[in-house]
Amino acid sequence: MKALVIKSTGLWYEVKAGEEKLVARLRGKFKLEEKKLTNPIAVGDWVEVNPNEQVDGEWVITKIYDRENYVIRESPRKKGHDHIIASNIDQGILIVTLKRPRTSLGFIDRFLISLESFRIPGVILFNKKDLYSEKDLLKYEELKSIYESVGYAVKLCQFDNDVEEEVKELFRNKTSLLAGHSGAGKSTLINRLIPKAQQEVSEISNFANKGVHTTTFAELFFLESGSSVIDTPGIKELGLSDIEDEELSHYFPEMRKFLGQCKFHNCLHENEPGCEVKKAVGGAVSELRYESYLAILRTEDNRK
Ligand code: ZN
Repeated sequence: MKALVIKSTGLWYEVKAGEEKLVARLRGKFKLEEKKLTNPIAVGDWVEVNPNEQVDGEWVITKIYDRENYVIRESPRKKGHDHIIASNIDQGILIVTLKRPRTSLGFIDRFLISLESFRIPGVILFNKKDLYSEKDLLKYEELKSIYESVGYAVKLCQFDNDVEEEVKELFRNKTSLLAGHSGAGKSTLINRLIPKAQQEVSEISNFANKGVHTTTFAELFFLESGSSVIDTPGIKELGLSDIEDEELSHYFPEMRKFLGQCKFHNCLHENEPGCEVKKAVGGAVSELRYESYLAILRTEDNRK
């Protein structure tokens, strides 16, 4: 029977088949198929499960259905290997704020680049609007117009009490991957969106895992009206590890239309003569995003 993976610990998986939640394990042979991955199955995967004839109440994953997309990052434990964080994602929602503590533009752009590289649409939620001064609000308007013109949805919000309807609307009928620095409000949003009963169950299963694992795992939660969110506790950034210098501008949608028009085919859009991207800076390419591009280009830590 077909089931959705809603939690993965690496040892066992929690899957949902219809309304039922089951515990399933993987048969060993899958682990060898994709050698460069440290985990063969991720939250968001659709799998086929069959009862385990040897263990009562346990299920075995016998097949993984093709993924629409997925996000990976370099495994922190095994060099040269990737770890799949989640799959079959409709959108990535980044929670940021201009106050307490202000989220850096570099962080926002790195997240958006990752999403672009996985072909996942991006949404930016600016939280804590009640704390913004007049000046902050002007800054927000500037950023909103920049990011919207690039093609990202941008919303101003506040999760203190209830989540505004227009924010809830963003989640409707979609599977959203949530990300954000601690302090930006991600956990508050999750608390507001997810029915309490589900969270309690989750706390119990997290508690059951304590002492066995030190890592926290991605988990999929169901919201009202066919929506779900994937939370990735402990993961602040998706990786940019597979992005080469020459490729970086491909993940800036506003630069894409100029690519191939520069004088040099391997133009990095820094100081090369005849660079069409650089000519567009201040126009179709905002100065802020271009500066971010240069800063990421010059940072080697996280990329090849
Ligand atoms: Zn160029």
